[in-house]
Amino acid sequence: MSNVPVRPLQGQKALVTGASSGIGAAVARAFAAAGAAVGVNYRSHPERAGQIVEDIRSAGGEAVVLRADVSSEDEVRAMFDEFGSAFGRTDILVANSGIQRDAAFTEMTLDQWRRVIDVNLTGQFLCAREAVRRFLAQSPDPSISRAAGKIICMSSVHEVIPWAGHVNYAASKGGVMLMMKSLAQEVAQAGIRVNGIAPGAIKTPINREAWETPEAERKLLKLIPYGRVGEPEDIGKAAVWLASDASDYVVGTTLFVDGGMTLYPGFRENG
Ligand code: NAD
Repeated sequence: MSNVPVRPLQGQKALVTGASSGIGAAVARAFAAAGAAVGVNYRSHPERAGQIVEDIRSAGGEAVVLRADVSSEDEVRAMFDEFGSAFGRTDILVANSGIQRDAAFTEMTLDQWRRVIDVNLTGQFLCAREAVRRFLAQSPDPSISRAAGKIICMSSVHEVIPWAGHVNYAASKGGVMLMMKSLAQEVAQAGIRVNGIAPGAIKTPINREAWETPEAERKLLKLIPYGRVGEPEDIGKAAVWLASDASDYVVGTTLFVDGGMTLYPGFRENG
């Protein structure tokens, strides 16, 4: 008989950024199914965020919509205030918002560089800083979790795989990796667990052209030893585990959920 709780996040309050689509939406839904009350952050599509909140509520869960641009210090602070007013405490942050602004290096504008760093790296800094402040200001509740708070930084296989034509994006994710590890080292003694998830290729709007047509998908599959493109739910399930007490001794680690993309598949026939 398994002793894993059916609802491993029961009673916890989780804020998920960029939760109006793709991976963030799947994490929000998986967290709600695991018993968490969820803050569904969005920046520009209230109708999509509203739909996710409605779906969660009609399945008997708790959720609120939270508008904020994660690259704005004031908006991030206001978002955490609103989340705290709705649910009373903050137990989990999933810093998931991210964008791509792709260009060949010599064509990349300063604006493309800055926007990606602002959202993907500074956005995670601002949200993580606010989450840690909230974790430290409240009393831990061992009846819901052994940890005093948990942060999951949504990274990418490109925290380790260089990516030509996407120098801004790869730099932002490499930055996320060492921000996550340094922060984990700094706050672990306060009982706060900080970890990352590095998705491989997951079917979402961010990379639609890489999987939408059969030719594109065939090309992409050459990079994936496990032989399928990932679904947002693959990340949702991993995030539930990483946020739950089942992973209580996991601190400062990146969990790669990538079908083996980081195994250098080019070497299968070429070593
Ligand atoms: P997506 O485009 O569906 O989701 C990105 C989310 O970020 C959207 O909800 C968007 O509204 C939000 N966002 C963008 N700018 C924002 C801002 N300034 N403030 C608040 N929210 C903002 O794509 P996705 O694939 O679901 O991406 C989610 C995360 O996963 C990103 O960090 C991305 O880098 C990462 N990731 C995705 C893949 C993949 O294959 N899909 C692979 C590796 C990593």
